[in-house]
Amino acid sequence: MKTMKLIASIFLVAFFLNASGQSQTSYFITADRVFDGQVMHEGWAVVVEGNVITAAGPKEKIAAPPNSIRINYPNATLLPGLIEGHSHMLLYPYNITDWDTQVMKESDSYRTARATVHARNTLLAGFTSSRDLGSEGAGYADVGLKRAITEGVIVGPRLLVAGRAIVATGSYGPKGYDDDMKIMMGAQEADGNDLIRVTREQIGKGADIVKVYADYRWGSNNEAMPTFSVDELKLIVETARSSGRPVVAHATTAEGMRRATAAGVETIEHGDEGTVEVFQFMKEKKVALCPTLAAGDAVAQYKGWKKGAAPEPDKIKKKKESFKAALQSGVTILAGGDVGVFTHGDNVRELELMVAYGMPAMDVLKSVTSINADAFHLDHLGAIRQNWLADIIVVAGDPSKNISDLRNVKLVMKDGTVYKNER
Ligand SMILES: [Zn+2]
Repeated sequence: MKTMKLIASIFLVAFFLNASGQSQTSYFITADRVFDGQVMHEGWAVVVEGNVITAAGPKEKIAAPPNSIRINYPNATLLPGLIEGHSHMLLYPYNITDWDTQVMKESDSYRTARATVHARNTLLAGFTSSRDLGSEGAGYADVGLKRAITEGVIVGPRLLVAGRAIVATGSYGPKGYDDDMKIMMGAQEADGNDLIRVTREQIGKGADIVKVYADYRWGSNNEAMPTFSVDELKLIVETARSSGRPVVAHATTAEGMRRATAAGVETIEHGDEGTVEVFQFMKEKKVALCPTLAAGDAVAQYKGWKKGAAPEPDKIKKKKESFKAALQSGVTILAGGDVGVFTHGDNVRELELMVAYGMPAMDVLKSVTSINADAFHLDHLGAIRQNWLADIIVVAGDPSKNISDLRNVKLVMKDGTVYKNER
């Protein structure tokens, strides 16, 4: 008995030494500017011990821990690890391979192999977290991708995953093929009460988020129209909510957005035809907008628009107008580009377009850090703050003056581990 107790206490001591000794690398980092998720500061230092920020503030007030690694970045800005709001790790640009071909002709194993590279490129671009909204025909491959990243098997951002999305029967693609062909859908079809079963199934298979298409280009005229009724959407929301999971809605039509908002989704993706009234309704219901400006910009160019040399297509003009309406309405605006439609690692493209379409750069920086973290329930992330997780990047220059400075990444730290350090 006594021996057992002794062994137990030796084990405990060893455990504590291991936990606090072995992985406890500490850093004392200084840069010209520190963006804390809300405000830009000058002359700050940030201390990291293990995977946690243990101090942040004016450098003369902060003591460097003994044996800490001191790094100074002149002419640079330190920020919280950026958070991608809308990615598809299992897709890659449609001008390389069109969506139908990726979904129907490429095996899940091939697509997953590519996705491991997409994940790495995302992290090295300074995006330490990403909300991955649908594998588009690759089942729950993103759930497996998340596991491999979490276990440290591969390198990538911390993921929140949607697995398969839910679509109304007859609305989604690939489509336009002969009736006799058995076509695998890019998302899971369900209707009516069956939505309860499908939502539960998705959660059971590892989805962190349930994504639903509230409207889609539907029928022979290929025009975006609402699909599910408010009652159907409510079934999904109630079922997901009882498991503590949010529902997010793809919606481009004003009516699709209105129905999704009324049903209680947390975010609306795209929102292309959103009006001031719909955005105000979203604001009232605390539903955030993820505008995915870069997807529209990319698709228009894939369709032949010579940006800069030719006039803007109608779709781009309308998107700019609705984004202005969103800004005016005061609805919460998230930063998420629908990356996958364009190149993984080029995530800053969305942030540049947000500025180009009229959002102040400081507000964009808040969106891609603290506002995204809050909307996605990413606890202790998106800010440089004591006791917050050590997801930190450093970029050359000042992105509050020139948003494209976010492309010049010097340091990437996720959970206290350094993945890139160029000085
Ligand atoms: Zn998407």
